[in-house]
Amino acid sequence: RAHLDRIAAVEPSVNSYLHVSEQAIATAEAIDARRAAGEQLPTLAGVPVAIKDVLCTVDMPSTAGSRILEGWIPPYDATPVRKLRENGLVPLGKTNMDEFAMGSSTEYSAYGPTRNPWDLERIPGGSGGGSAAAVAAFEAPLALGSDTGGSIRQPAAVTGSVGVKPTYGGVSRYGAIALASSLDQVGPVTRTVLDAALLHDVIGGHDPRDSTSLADTWPSFEQAARRGAQEGSLKGLKVGVVKELAGGEGFQPGVLARFRESLELLEQNGAEIVEVAAPNFEYAISAYYLILPAEASSNLAKFDSVRFGLRVTPQGGGTVEQVMAATREQGFGPEVKRRIILGTYALSAGYYDAYYGSAQKVRTLIQQDFSAAFQKVDVLVSPSAPTTAFKFGEKTDDPLSMYLNDLTTIPANLAGVPGISLPAGLADEDGLPVGIQFMAPARADERLYHVGAALE
Ligand code: GLN
Repeated sequence: RAHLDRIAAVEPSVNSYLHVSEQAIATAEAIDARRAAGEQLPTLAGVPVAIKDVLCTVDMPSTAGSRILEGWIPPYDATPVRKLRENGLVPLGKTNMDEFAMGSSTEYSAYGPTRNPWDLERIPGGSGGGSAAAVAAFEAPLALGSDTGGSIRQPAAVTGSVGVKPTYGGVSRYGAIALASSLDQVGPVTRTVLDAALLHDVIGGHDPRDSTSLADTWPSFEQAARRGAQEGSLKGLKVGVVKELAGGEGFQPGVLARFRESLELLEQNGAEIVEVAAPNFEYAISAYYLILPAEASSNLAKFDSVRFGLRVTPQGGGTVEQVMAATREQGFGPEVKRRIILGTYALSAGYYDAYYGSAQKVRTLIQQDFSAAFQKVDVLVSPSAPTTAFKFGEKTDDPLSMYLNDLTTIPANLAGVPGISLPAGLADEDGLPVGIQFMAPARADERLYHVGAALE
């Protein structure tokens, strides 16, 4: 009830939610009744949670921020959502996002932008700005996001929250409306590292319905966070500063100042800091913005006016092709169209090897940079984003400048490794939150919770 009251009070200015659940109170009361009857319930039973609108929910519309899915209610729950329910968490509603998770500011949502609770004139990050703003504005204690190129970590950074992109395959993608299937991962957005660990424990694990889901058994991330918090010390931990992700053009001085301070804090806690080179990271954005549109153009082909959501019939009727064209013309926003065109071009006969093929080779080189770095260090560190929250409209006229904001987050997705963004204080020049990012080898998500909780 407190969260629903808070939502009612701040939503007119923040706009984190696309839909608020009508069943939250009934669900919470049912959990209370089970507890009162003496049932042993899972740790997070009864805790409310916000869900990014990219995840399918049987009881709420799931639009992925797009007009083309307006009002669509899926016939099944995404696996992470099903696990929330099985563990007794209480879905509060669906959060706003850039259309089909394309963007870094939530300005590309078809339903209006979310505002950053720290400064309502600024973006909350993206694509999962709704989840991060909901957590930062105390409209939800926990939220789920999805991270294809930073959409959990960058919104967490610019709202002073914690965000985790798990190892690729660590959390099921079943029922997550696909952006780029080889990059997408669902993960937690929270206010503390322990909260993120608890939520990750709930949503993670093998799912036979996702062919890329890892069959691993995972350690308890809650225990990793608790151990980290208890020990406090990072003695023996080797931390690599990625030269390519920690300075140069586009980095705000206040972000770099907080970053350097965080490195000092790490050293004071006993960690050893070394500089590592990742020479191919320079090409990460170029490779990502070919691979992502290629996969997205294929994934979005299913929105054909027949199977889902919107159907626009031209005046006087039309052929199947004309209905499809009119629906996609009106149903998709400008950034989605831009990426469909880019992706279709990059995949077309005669260009495939030059664009998509080269990008895949660069992706392999980036993975090799990570492997070489992890021979020398336990975790890598960088700022989570090059800047603090920017003002609305600052980057929408220039898509490239929006893409460049993803510089620090994209390499982890290309390599499938896990990453966490932690609050690192406020930038001097604007008083806005700065995030610091840690990355670990694939399957070593546990390390991120240990380090994060030790620093908190
Ligand atoms: N900013 C990235 C993009 O626009 C983030 C995508 C994501 O992680 N969903 O592609």
